[in-house]
Amino acid sequence: MQIILMGPPGAGKGTQAEKLTGELSIPHISTGDMFRKAIKEGTELGKKAKSYMDQGKLVPDEVTIGIVKERLAEADCNNGFLLDGFPRTVPQADALNEILFELNKSLNAVINIKVARDELVERLTGRRVCKACGATYHVIFNPAKEEGICDRCGGELYQRNDDKIETVGNRLDVYEEQTAPLIKYYQEKGLLKEIDGSKAMDKVLADILAALGRE
Ligand code: ADP
Ligand code: AMP
Repeated sequence: MQIILMGPPGAGKGTQAEKLTGELSIPHISTGDMFRKAIKEGTELGKKAKSYMDQGKLVPDEVTIGIVKERLAEADCNNGFLLDGFPRTVPQADALNEILFELNKSLNAVINIKVARDELVERLTGRRVCKACGATYHVIFNPAKEEGICDRCGGELYQRNDDKIETVGNRLDVYEEQTAPLIKYYQEKGLLKEIDGSKAMDKVLADILAALGRE
């Protein structure tokens, strides 16, 4: 299965992807995670991406498309993949079509997770992430058992630079301008499944599985 998880920053894409990847046995491919890993490792890609990410802007299409193309050609993607945070622009969506064509694959569904803007701001500013394993928490909605420590691996929790209140508004505006047009793009292809992301996490998961015909 080839699936895209769409939705604004904070909609719950990463949270749901973590759960879905187990249910569907396909890898979770997050361009945001790939960029954060590159920054941590100090690679050329990380150097290119960092200033855009810190400002809440999109990393240029040619950089982003290149890393996705390489990643989707890896062996673990043979039976499908779950894309989270890609595509985010029309040129990226067009490039994905070409990549899929070359791989002789097609998209099964585009899941669009919808959440109101004020809820998104609250989710993003309260998000905490494990430095070691990348698990996601929220200070109120999904707190770690022990404050600041990952339940799963004992790693240290931190707040992403781009989750500070100064950057969050900009990211939501960038989403509206550059990514929201993809909703219509995939609707016209008959692939779009709308999901109410304001519900509890388990309910959202159940709704996504139902939309994929996997109840
Ligand atoms: P995205 O990957 O779309 O940016 P995340 O999955 O990281 O979003 O979720 C953003 C924040 O909101 C996280 O702190 C997460 O714990 C929290 N969150 C995710 N889903 C829900 C939900 N259904 N209800 C409340 N909080 C949620
Ligand atoms: P995310 O983890 O999905 O919230 O992404 C964090 C940041 O990484 C975004 O604000 C962008 O700066 C960058 N990024 C992630 N995915 C993409 C993409 N598909 N295109 C451009 N920039 C991206």
